[in-house]
Amino acid sequence: MSKDAKPRDIVGMTEQQNLDAGRFSSWLRSTRSAQINDSGAEVPCGECNACCRSSYFIHIRPEETETLSRIPGELLFPAPGLPKGNVLLGYDEKGRCPMLIDGKCSIYEHRPLTCRSYDCRVFSAAGIAPGEDDKALIAERVRRWKFSYLTESERKQHSAVQAAATFLRERAECFPAGVVPRNSTQVAIFAIKVYKVFLRYEYKSGETGCAPDDFKIAKAVMEANERFEGKYER
Ligand code: SF4
Repeated sequence: MSKDAKPRDIVGMTEQQNLDAGRFSSWLRSTRSAQINDSGAEVPCGECNACCRSSYFIHIRPEETETLSRIPGELLFPAPGLPKGNVLLGYDEKGRCPMLIDGKCSIYEHRPLTCRSYDCRVFSAAGIAPGEDDKALIAERVRRWKFSYLTESERKQHSAVQAAATFLRERAECFPAGVVPRNSTQVAIFAIKVYKVFLRYEYKSGETGCAPDDFKIAKAVMEANERFEGKYER
């Protein structure tokens, strides 16, 4: 999220231009590493602040004391389903984060980890839209990101990430309840964690239901996710 963004920038003159998302393999490696280490991402936001204006609830952890000390308490409320101390920062009637002032993040140096780690290139990587209508600003940005590839194996990696995201959406019923997230961001992240399964397996997209081979793939996906979450796989 940019500290210098101005509200008009997303819809302004650069609307049709492509944006360099970088080498796909480098991006994939650093994104997986950020997931493992729970660290922020280096995103070339430029002057874009679309994600600060897209009706997101921002999760802030109890240990983010510097951040919490800079946000008025009345803007925070307990995060449902998470341990005490985890809070959410909401948004105004136009979907804007209240810490966005004059088009800039007013706490940029101390912004939440959620904001530091947000990277809308995950949607371009997974080939899915960011979600509901109130994410239109981000969707516009996502359409413009273009990854580059130096080798055929990089292209295969990207295809595998997209195949993973499609499988998760089309074949959610092949998994036990609750395994496949509903939220677009979480589906994209899940696909990034388990994409290697789709370097090995192929399936017929555009169909629903669960053939025996789909259950086999779903099992491999869950095992890959467990390995990733267990941080065995780097
Ligand atoms: S805290 Fe700052 S970076 Fe995060 S959504 Fe709000 S304005 Fe954007």
